Amino acid sequence: MCPIMMAIEDNYRHKGLRKQLVDLLRSGGIHDEKVLAAINEVPRHVFLDSSFVEIAYSDQAFPIGSGQTISQPRTVAVQTELLKVERGMKVLEIGTGSGYQACVLAAMGARVFSIERQRNLYFKTKEILEALPFRVKTFLGDGFNGLPTYAPFDRIIVTAGAPDIAKALVNQLKTGGIMVVPVDNPDGQGQTMLRLTKTGDGLLSKEEFGEYKFVPMLHGTDND
Ligand code: SAH
Repeated sequence: MCPIMMAIEDNYRHKGLRKQLVDLLRSGGIHDEKVLAAINEVPRHVFLDSSFVEIAYSDQAFPIGSGQTISQPRTVAVQTELLKVERGMKVLEIGTGSGYQACVLAAMGARVFSIERQRNLYFKTKEILEALPFRVKTFLGDGFNGLPTYAPFDRIIVTAGAPDIAKALVNQLKTGGIMVVPVDNPDGQGQTMLRLTKTGDGLLSKEEFGEYKFVPMLHGTDND
């Protein structure tokens, strides 16, 4: 069997562990049952190197190669909940990484467009996504530019620590649309999770949702 065929095995043990993770997230304050159902549906172990399968369902971030990480399940749940996704919405994700967050959004019925800047990671993830039943379109590029060809989007989610709120992304958000983005704190220590809603006059209303630590959002693309 090729490694990916092995990886998409989703057995009773995986399903049981996933249910425990969902219960943990629910008791930890995630209340949106649609988000929890999506997390229950997506086999997280598939996105980790096979040596991590046993612990794929602990609430931890993990290395996925190319110096990047798959976000902690709680962080994925929080960002997804804040995004208020509805079936059929067009969602742009910056930072495909492992592809896990993108699949959780797709499992909620979103049409997901996801950009990754690291070439090797982009191809590795694309292959995994092609073996799964979730509809996610992936793009190799610099997320600071968004995806003008596919704009406007109902929702935008940034899954890397952003130095600022990229103008191009705001322009590509529909009126009434929501962007969830962890923005770097001025002291250089981690990020504050922001939810920005684009109002009728094109301005953004801003809400804050606590402190996080993401890998940095970087300009340009590279070969890692
Ligand atoms: N959503 C991912 C989290 C990955 S970590 C998951 O579910 O696994 C953040 C990712 O953002 C990394 O893969 C990193 O390479 C990518 N990234 C950083 N800056 C970026 C940019 N400007 N454009 C696109 N991707 C970027």
